[in-house]
Amino acid sequence: MTTKSAVAAARATVYGYPRQGRNRELKKAIEGYWKGRVTADALRATAAELRSAHWRQLAGAGIHEVPTGDFSFYDHVLDTTVMVGAVPARHREAVHADALAGYFAMARGTQDVAPLEMTKWFDTNYHYLVPELGPDTVFAADSSRQVTELKEALSLGLTARPVLVGPVTYLLLAKPAPGVAADFEPLTLLDRLLPVYAEVLADLRAAGAEWVQLDEPALVQDRTPADLNAAARAYRDLGALTDRPKLLVASYFDRLGDALPVLAKAPVDGLALDFTGPAAANLDALAAVGGLPGKRLVAGVVDGRNIWINDLHRSLTTLGTLLGLAGQVDVAASCSLLHVPLDAAAEKDVDPQIRRWLAFAKQKTGEITTLATGLARGTDAITGELAANRAALASRANSPITRDPVVRARAEAVTDADARRPQPYAERAAAQRAHLDLPLLPTTTIGSFPQTAELRAARADLRAGRIDATGYEERIRAEIREVISFQEKTGLDVLVHGEPERNDMVQYFAERLDGYLATRHGWVQSYGTRYVRPPILAGDVSRPAPMTVRWTTYAQSLTGRPVKGMLTGPVTMLAWSFVRDDQPLADTARQVALALRDEVHDLEAAGTSVIQVDEPALRETLPLRRADHPDYLAWATGAFRLSTGGVRPDTQIHTHMCYAEFGDIVQAIDDLDADVISLEAARSHMRVAHELAAHGYPREAGPGVWDIHSPRVPSAEEATALLQEGLGAIPAERLWVNPDCGLKTRGWAETRASLEHLVAAARTVRDRLSPS
Ligand code: GLN
Ligand code: ZN
Repeated sequence: MTTKSAVAAARATVYGYPRQGRNRELKKAIEGYWKGRVTADALRATAAELRSAHWRQLAGAGIHEVPTGDFSFYDHVLDTTVMVGAVPARHREAVHADALAGYFAMARGTQDVAPLEMTKWFDTNYHYLVPELGPDTVFAADSSRQVTELKEALSLGLTARPVLVGPVTYLLLAKPAPGVAADFEPLTLLDRLLPVYAEVLADLRAAGAEWVQLDEPALVQDRTPADLNAAARAYRDLGALTDRPKLLVASYFDRLGDALPVLAKAPVDGLALDFTGPAAANLDALAAVGGLPGKRLVAGVVDGRNIWINDLHRSLTTLGTLLGLAGQVDVAASCSLLHVPLDAAAEKDVDPQIRRWLAFAKQKTGEITTLATGLARGTDAITGELAANRAALASRANSPITRDPVVRARAEAVTDADARRPQPYAERAAAQRAHLDLPLLPTTTIGSFPQTAELRAARADLRAGRIDATGYEERIRAEIREVISFQEKTGLDVLVHGEPERNDMVQYFAERLDGYLATRHGWVQSYGTRYVRPPILAGDVSRPAPMTVRWTTYAQSLTGRPVKGMLTGPVTMLAWSFVRDDQPLADTARQVALALRDEVHDLEAAGTSVIQVDEPALRETLPLRRADHPDYLAWATGAFRLSTGGVRPDTQIHTHMCYAEFGDIVQAIDDLDADVISLEAARSHMRVAHELAAHGYPREAGPGVWDIHSPRVPSAEEATALLQEGLGAIPAERLWVNPDCGLKTRGWAETRASLEHLVAAARTVRDRLSPS
């Protein structure tokens, strides 16, 4: 007997997989190619082997339909630029001469030609290369890479689905090419771009694709009616093509909102939606538009950008609800697995009790398969998996690691007053002036000094046991002596110890805080061949011992000038880590803030009069939807103030952020109530100084006068001109003189020269203000 089911059996799929390989083979091959040690053919062979290994891995884990085209030598948006023929004019010759070398030239630039600009992929820590378009852009289809990779997967006997960046998202991520009017809107090129997509789709169908996925994550951001119309037009036109594969339009990272009815109505064959975090709102929204009758729904119920095991029972409930809303329901991760590390089983150093809570890409594919089986055949088919999952979740919920009663009681007892400095700014400023006795236009730096080869060698020696902790300490102290003596000689006013002991501004603190976990192999692509290992916020956070006091007080013991203490702020600590998913972010931020508050307190007690708490990630963590901003900004600024609010009035709190575009968060910056803020400003000719002034920012600010992102040394005249410009916005009593950001990536030669010029500029302008 056959029961006729309304829905076909659920299938398991993913949209993308980590690219680098178990031992970062891809990174090694690409960097080898750049250095001329690996031939282009060898690089291509390594890439093909990795792709096929990944597909086999996915198929072996029970994934029914594998993605193709998600692999990249550098970035999938750059790949899309190649696919649609939008290579910038300045790179065309190189690409024509040698496609692979030209591709990397677009990504990294050459001696003579600038690369494409790089920016963050939505609110992840992945960076893409920004397409440059203009009214003269002529698109031309090049489906060769997509077709090749599809054929590779098909030749393994697998069901494969090419994944492309969708046309609307591609245009919304683009910016006007150099020389094109700044108000040019790339989306106006849609009608020119669609025929190119049509051609690629036809080629993929001819090569054997039944389905093609078009990713439109830009539609989860707030969109204008014009944007939504463009999306409607795009999918009406692509849907109307006769010679095309079935189209699956995917969105992720947040809810679709107004774009959901648009896509639900579009004549495409399926949608892939995110149902995790704030995107869970897609469920009700989908029901409200009457679902996707007769169409395919790919349900992203496994969080593709965090590393915790799924709550299988809860996901099955969601999936069960969705069954009634579409013709076919398949199971997936919420987004590409590019954003998580490969395999939690490789983390042999992590306590097995905790390791069972972790799901990296490999474990997630297992979860997706299990859910698909449960959906297709009923929970009886997955009783073992469900029981194991329930036990693991319970062990996490009841663990003393995730629930430290002391931390919880303390966080609970926090009052609003704890997160406010009791004295108004004017009173604090007077006390600080008396205490610190700084000149007008005080000079300082952002914290780090060059991370030299010797420093990296010292850390490697320590790890390898070639030196012991004492030997390492001595090397760090020697570096601090050098950095302090250089700053004194150069005439800087507020000194720093240079952060030589820090491998990374988040990892350093994560390693010293309870509740944080480090991984050994948890690499995630940040951009190109750069991979990072974000630490994991696993449990309740506390600080067993001071983390920085030893270095700061040592530096202070060497000089009569104030040495600034240096901490990474709570928001940045969260932003560059994998966060807990079992409590609100605000709660985790508060715990981190309390740990930092202890450090601030200890620094102050040890005689530190100036303490900087860096928050470079404050803006990048802004939720994608504007409606979610107020909530985020309230807890984020609250956490910062909680970490800094307990100090004396004459202790000066600094903060630092490194971006030039911050118009949308000026109020939040004001709400931090820091006494001094340093910001990136050199490239934009002090625009932030004017933005701060326009907002009526009442406290002190140091808009950077040296662009540290380039090895170029600014002249004293240049720095003087920038300072004068800054003075046009911020009165001299509240203006600081500093570089744009930390100097860890700079060499000593340019650091010396640039800081000398910076101090000279401050002196010149001081003289002009009050000639002695
Ligand atoms: N204090 C840090 C440094 O100087 C700040 C780095 C940053 O803003 N990203 O390196
Ligand atoms: Zn910075």
